[in-house]
Amino acid sequence: MCAQMLWPYREARRIISQLRGRKDAILETGFGPSGPPHIGTYGEIIRTNFVALALKDLGYRPRIISFLDDLDGLRKVPEGFPTWLSDYLGRPVCEIPDPFECCESFSKHMHKLLVKMVDDAGARCEYRFSSEEYASGTFNDAIEAVMHNVELLKRLVVPMLSPEVGARWFPFFAKCENCGKLYTTRVTSVDIDSETVDYVCDGEFGAVRGCGHHGTTSYLNGAGKLPWRVDWPARWFALHVDYEIHGKDLIESASLGKRIVSSVFMRPPILTMTYELFLDADGRKISKSKGFAIDPTLWLKYGTRDSLHLMLYKKPKQAKRLDISRMPSYVNEAFGVAADYYRRRDEFGQPGKRHPYEILTLLAPPDSDPGRMDFATLCNLVAALGERNPDVIKRYALKLAEQVNSDDSGYDVRSADSGLVDELVRKAIMFADDIIATRSAEVELSDNELEAVRSFVSYLRSGEFTGEEIQTRVFTLAREFSISQPRMFQILYALILNQRQGPRLGYFIPILGQNKTADRIEASLAKFGLRD
Ligand SMILES: [Zn+2]
Ligand SMILES: [Zn+2]
Repeated sequence: MCAQMLWPYREARRIISQLRGRKDAILETGFGPSGPPHIGTYGEIIRTNFVALALKDLGYRPRIISFLDDLDGLRKVPEGFPTWLSDYLGRPVCEIPDPFECCESFSKHMHKLLVKMVDDAGARCEYRFSSEEYASGTFNDAIEAVMHNVELLKRLVVPMLSPEVGARWFPFFAKCENCGKLYTTRVTSVDIDSETVDYVCDGEFGAVRGCGHHGTTSYLNGAGKLPWRVDWPARWFALHVDYEIHGKDLIESASLGKRIVSSVFMRPPILTMTYELFLDADGRKISKSKGFAIDPTLWLKYGTRDSLHLMLYKKPKQAKRLDISRMPSYVNEAFGVAADYYRRRDEFGQPGKRHPYEILTLLAPPDSDPGRMDFATLCNLVAALGERNPDVIKRYALKLAEQVNSDDSGYDVRSADSGLVDELVRKAIMFADDIIATRSAEVELSDNELEAVRSFVSYLRSGEFTGEEIQTRVFTLAREFSISQPRMFQILYALILNQRQGPRLGYFIPILGQNKTADRIEASLAKFGLRD
């Protein structure tokens, strides 16, 4: 596998071709701290780190800036947050008290959560705050250029807005000196000589209304802010950004931003990469205001960091459903990537020759192979056993390993680091309790199907069989009772695992134990009212 083929290297090559001999490159990622960081925020930083590592490997000096737009006004109270925050709607999040009372502001708290996530991952970035950059004058040149190009900007931006918003739109928001809100003000005139704007605070912003104040204020040094569509390209200009990865939902804003950079700020447009969005289990876009629904912390509670990074690494241009119930299969897949790396590590480990596993681990794979196990099956096993004692589960985990030909699957827990085994056992127990136990795959059985299931239970109790024999028995059972094979398996998975799919039964049942499996089936029949 040639490292140049891995997408972070392809992106690095694109960036290098735009650097015109420079060795330094600035990669930006944005975070709106009006809610906790979510998988999209984390994903952008990790993917940007992948690209930065590739650049470094190729002899360049990348810096990653995570830009926090803490001047953004709070639009709504995030789910699960105290309701008193509604008093602060419309106010910049850097001026809102921390609802958790541990940081100097709402946005500093969100920043703290982000820093923890990034540090825990071993990723890197520098943090810059909109409030500080505006106040210190970083954006002054950009704002000057904007004030000289108001009509041009209106021509570019207004067609993208609704008629009502477009009619009021001006490429600058003064901060109301009376009520402190940003998005309720409207600039009525500009005085370039005195570097001021006249404004009136008469707008609406969600449920928030302006206070009616009229005023005159400087447009420099943080007395106001560029609206988001102009602020983004202004950042590229002011911070000398070369590259940014963004979600598909921002394609239009990014291409507008590139036009603004070249026509207002007189700089060549930056390079961007678009990724597909993360969707929740129901196919909806994951948004910040829904709170912690699916965030990296939740993923890491049940899964491994390698599996989270694999999910971010794999096909960034393909939409992904972040259904937490798929997490164990990502864990298994990441183990497979690691197994491949440790098998062939002599071929890798140097600039220009990287294995995907080195990218997932941000070029810090453990020196020795930590080992692996069939985590997806372990989760099912824990759920089916109804057993929560980690020592007992651990014995089953070892049994699981014995069933596996380690040459084929790469899962071999016998050589695994005992810390890893303990961690996976602990996580499998939590996953079985919190996720699998809440699933339901009830089946309706015909009399004939019920008869087939009873016959299978008697078979399991009639002696000790090998995995192959059990697997064959399911096939013959289906034939004897004229039930299709997929239907037969579906029934057994529902009764044994309370789910529609599962591991190969000839592999799974010997580990779970024949009697335990039979008990489990009978308990499910009783639960579904199918016993008699
Ligand atoms: Zn705090
Ligand atoms: Zn006001």
